Parts: sequence; structure tokens; C-alpha cells
Amino acid sequence: MATRFCYYCGANHPEEDMRKIITKQGTRWRCIKSLEGAKKTIAERDKQGKASTEKNSRISALHAKGAK
Ligand SMILES: [Zn+2]
Repeated sequence: MATRFCYYCGANHPEEDMRKIITKQGTRWRCIKSLEGAKKTIAERDKQGKASTEKNSRISALHAKGAK
């Protein structure tokens, strides 16, 4: 069975479960489960409050600086 590397999960999934995502970095593959799960995750984040979201933003900013 053909598999694709899911950049979101960091794992390989069956190709039939994958969606092609066009990003600035190029073409990437992401599984349908993670795309559907993201919608739920956003809703759950809203319930949990903004604290975790702000923390994630800071981590992303640090990564962005480190990439330079
Ligand atoms: Zn995945």
C-alpha cells in the first residue's frame, strides 16, 4: 500500500487518507484525520482559554528567530 509522509503527524499514512497541501515551502501531504481534528482542536482551545494559545505563539516566535 502506498503511503505518504504526513508533515503534521510526522508519520506515514496510507495515501488514500492524505490530502495534498500547497504551502510557501512547496507541496506537502497531510492526513484527513489531522485536518478534521484541527477543527475540533480549535474548539477545544477556545474552551481551555487563551493561555495555551499564547504559549504556542511564543514558541512559534522563538522557532522563527532560531531559523534565521
Ligand atoms: Zn497525519
